Amino acid sequence: MRITILGKSPSWQDAGGACSGYLVQEDGTTVLLDCGNGVFAKLREVLDYREVGHVLLSHPHADHCLDLIPFAYALTYGPGGGREQPELLVPPGALELLRALGTLWGNPELVEGAFRITQYDPADRLVVGDLRARFAPVPHYIDANAVELTPTGGGPRFTFSADCGPNDALVDFARDTDLLLIEATLTEPAPDGFAGHLTAAEAGDHARRAGARRVVLTHFSDELDAGAQQEAAAQAFGGPVELARGGAVLEL
Ligand SMILES: [Zn+2]
Ligand SMILES: [Zn+2]
Repeated sequence: MRITILGKSPSWQDAGGACSGYLVQEDGTTVLLDCGNGVFAKLREVLDYREVGHVLLSHPHADHCLDLIPFAYALTYGPGGGREQPELLVPPGALELLRALGTLWGNPELVEGAFRITQYDPADRLVVGDLRARFAPVPHYIDANAVELTPTGGGPRFTFSADCGPNDALVDFARDTDLLLIEATLTEPAPDGFAGHLTAAEAGDHARRAGARRVVLTHFSDELDAGAQQEAAAQAFGGPVELARGGAVLEL
């Protein structure tokens, strides 16, 4: 399995960067995991967008889905018509949101017209080309799902935390995973009350409790001290952790 980081920014883009977007390739299958703002241009730097067979959304926040709009325009008006539509796998509620966005500029069917829509239930286990997908709801400001992708024929497990606050569900879900790509948005724990994101130290702690074999931090701003974030996570994890970087390729 080959994972290319197209964007690792939080809800606003790094200079020259993109929000959440990860290209996952296994045999003949190409899945775009999340499609936040800036991701479509980054995708085009590494691959013909018509080669993407599946787009999978963890949750429909803008920084995870907004570039479905230019992607849909490209599929609708760009060259290379007549190809099979890519599948868009969305959690409950996401399609309504994308339709509402399109309605604002008079094209509510834009995304549905460009992609073959599959609405998944987080309890589902899906086959997505040569990959299996499963999900775990995690605490966030809206419904969000951690995602696991693993080859259908067996092989390494890739676990993506999506956006989440501290929780045990992710620890159970990511137990012994080969790669945990985990969000580390905050520098300080959220004040009392609901937390929708993790600090780097909390991310490292979740990875340690899960027994993850490899840990990569993501969803952090280039305005933070990345070295300090990495150090805090490594200390909590009890071993080295990596920082996501746009364009980086992770081989599993
Ligand atoms: Zn979010
Ligand atoms: Zn986000």
